[in-house]
This record gives sequence, structure tokens and C-alpha cells, in this order.
Amino acid sequence: MANRRIYLDNNATTPTDPRVVEAMLPYFTNMFGNAASRNHPFGWEAEEGVDYAREQVAKLIGADPKEIIFTSGATESDNLAIKGVFEMYARKGNHIITLKTEHKAVLDACKKVEKMGGEVTYLDVKRDGLVDLEALKAAITDKTILVSIMFANNETGVIQPMKEIGALCEEKGVLFMSDITQAAGKIPVDVKELGIHLAAFTGHKMYGPKGVGALFVNRKKPRVKVTAQMDGGGHERGMRSGTLNVPGIVGFGKAAELAIKEMDADAKRLSALRDKLQTALMERLEEVVINGNEEHRMPHVTNMSFKHVEGEGLMMTFNQNIALSSGSACTSASLEPSYVLKALGLGDDLAHSSLRFSLGRFTTDEDVEQTIDEIANGVNHMRELSPIWEMYKEGIDLESIEWSEH
Ligand SMILES: *Cc1c(COP(=O)(O)O)cnc(C)c1O
Repeated sequence: MANRRIYLDNNATTPTDPRVVEAMLPYFTNMFGNAASRNHPFGWEAEEGVDYAREQVAKLIGADPKEIIFTSGATESDNLAIKGVFEMYARKGNHIITLKTEHKAVLDACKKVEKMGGEVTYLDVKRDGLVDLEALKAAITDKTILVSIMFANNETGVIQPMKEIGALCEEKGVLFMSDITQAAGKIPVDVKELGIHLAAFTGHKMYGPKGVGALFVNRKKPRVKVTAQMDGGGHERGMRSGTLNVPGIVGFGKAAELAIKEMDADAKRLSALRDKLQTALMERLEEVVINGNEEHRMPHVTNMSFKHVEGEGLMMTFNQNIALSSGSACTSASLEPSYVLKALGLGDDLAHSSLRFSLGRFTTDEDVEQTIDEIANGVNHMRELSPIWEMYKEGIDLESIEWSEH
């Protein structure tokens, strides 16, 4: 019991659903053909598998199958969208707008665009993590070609007002790209209804395999094009060369099909479990805050700070047997506070004391109950040992203390 491992890090990756694995297996062995081999049945059956998966993946987000470009994952899709639009639309303008809370795949692609002569505006978010629509509107100029705003944030689960952003982009005549990785397969996403022109997502965040993802590229009104970032055989309508990962794509398709059928029930069950976890921890512990907007938030996620307790240290109290993410990012030499939480206005202390709980399809009631106990005990234990907590309890204003450097 003590060593039972609990996985509450589903925003980092999800286990592959066994039904997905089953769908993939024949494509490693009997049906191993190259989907681009047009002159024999080995190629045809591989292509059929890919075509079917393309329909399933398109259906998940309300797109046409012809609008799905298969890639190696959301990182590649983000890069293809941002750099590909920048190069394709160079004559129209060179300005891109994004948020400070975006995933690194978007932020680092934008940094590369700046090196290539582009201009990028990194907008602040509000205290609750939501975009400031007025600030977004004000940032759009006649040089703006693309707005890139994620659907749901990976650290906080905060959901942006996609429909309003889409309408604004439409009004201003700029392309709207979204990293929908954390939303796809978990909550309804309809790219047409929301006015999204490009969307990046990935298999392994929705119970599919790793190493396969997609970029949705709108084909009509407007017809969007991106410059290929990989040169080769001209696969995927010339936008992404490379032999298709047929088993991965088939698995991604199966994961999409399962998500369409099961997302409502999963979301309902997981939001109840998430709320139970959050409520129990708030009842049992003092000085706990929830980071990010609670109303516009993914059903399976909560990001909480336990004041005066360091998240990484807390995880050691249960020997990392509960898999979570902390608000500290490991860079080469040190622990950096999460840039996402800092963008919400959290100080370093509060960011370092945060934990992200992300539940998933295979999370059980028992997992959540054990987590509540272990976290509550761990926080209490660490606070008992902490002189800062003692001072806080004695009513000493911690801000007023002058810390010695030695
Ligand atoms: C995980 C994640 C990615 C990266 O996806 P990969 O398929 O691992 O490259 C990109 N964006 C967001 C929001 C993510 O959560």
C-alpha cells in the first residue's frame, strides 16, 4: 500500500489506452506498408488506415479530413504553424501576437521568428490567467499576420475565451492559431465555430501514443497555407514531408474516436474527483490558494499553492509515489519558478509552493483519497519543521523581516 504509485500528472502525458494499443498492433506487423506506396496492396492498406484515422482526428475538432496534417507531435505542429505562417505571409506583414503563458513550443518558435526578422508581442495575462481582450485588440496592427493563443493552459488548466478571440481575429483579418493540445479530446473543440485557422495537438495527451500529432490548417475562407519546415517527398499536401508513422497515426485516430464517445462522461467524473480533492485539501489545511480562474478551467486540473511549503520538498515526503508537477522548473543549474505562474503575478515563493494535480481517465476514487491524506500530512509535517511557518503562526509579519545573507 505504502508503495502504491499514483499518477496525477496527466497534463504531462497520459497512459496509452489499451484499446488504442490494440488498434495499432496490426500496423507494426501484417500491415507494415508505406502509406505512400501507391502500386501494391501493402501500401494501400496502410493508406486506408491513415485515411480512416484522418477522419477520426478531423471529426474530434470539427474539421475536414483534408485539413489535417500529421506531424510528430504538438511541438512540431506549433513550429510548423508559427514559422510556416511567418514565411508564407511575409509579404503581408511580420508581426505575431501571443501570450506570456504559452507553451515553450510556441514561445521558442516565436523567438526564432524574431531572429528571422519578425516582430512578436508577448501579451501579459490577467491575474486569473485569462487574456485581456482589450489589450489583444490594441496590439493588432496592419503588420499583424497571426495571433497564437492556446485553448487551455497546461499548468493551470485555464481556458481562454476562444470564441471572442476568433471573432476579433476575423474582424481584423488576421489568422488565429491555437495550441489546443490540452483541450483536444477532453472538452468539445469545434475549430469552425470558434474561428480557429490553425490548431496544434498531440496523441499522447489524449490517451494515444507518443510521437504523433497533427496540425489543422483551414482550407476554405480563408484558404491558409504554411511553408513546409521539412523538405523531402512532399507528403501531407506538401506541408510535411516524411514517411507517415502509420501505427502512431492509427492509434491517434482510435484515441480521437474514444474521446468523442467518452469525453463527456470522463469530464463529469473527473471534475467531481478534482473538486473533492480541492475541497478536502482546503478544509484540512490553512493558507492554500488556487492558481488561475476556477470557472474557466479544465475539468480534471487544479493548481494549488501551499504557502510556506516548497512543492519539490513536499513531493519527497511521499517519496514521489504520487506523480505531480511542481511550480518549479528544473533548468540546468537551479530550480526556476514557473514562468506561467509568475505571469499570473505570483511571487517566487508562491510559485515554488505550487503543485499541479492533473487527473485522467484511469484515476480512481482511491487514488484521490490517498492523495488527500498524503498531501495534507506532508504539508503539516513540513510546516511543523519550518521556522517561517512558526513565525507566521506567531503573527510576525514575514515581509518586515530582514534576512541575513549568511
Ligand atoms: C505537451 C504539450 C506540447 C508538446 O507536445 P508534444 O507532442 O510532446 O511535442 C505543446 N503544447 C502544450 C500545451 C502541451 O501541453
